[in-house]
Amino acid sequence: MKLDLQLFAVPARRVSKTAKRARRTHLKKEAPTVTTCKNCGNPLAPHRACSKCGYYKGKEVIKVNKEEK
Ligand SMILES: [Zn+2]
Repeated sequence: MKLDLQLFAVPARRVSKTAKRARRTHLKKEAPTVTTCKNCGNPLAPHRACSKCGYYKGKEVIKVNKEEK
């Protein structure tokens, strides 16, 4: 279904407080997804190699210098 709507600027005083607040109910920050490394338990972003041990999907994929801490 195609809507033939033309949206353009509406002066602030023409938009009620309720309409403005109702529109902004969808604007919110979301907490980032955090998983844990299966090798060392370090908190991680999903689909990323672990920055502490260099493991991803049970294999060491990157070398991590463990002396630098
Ligand atoms: Zn790890």
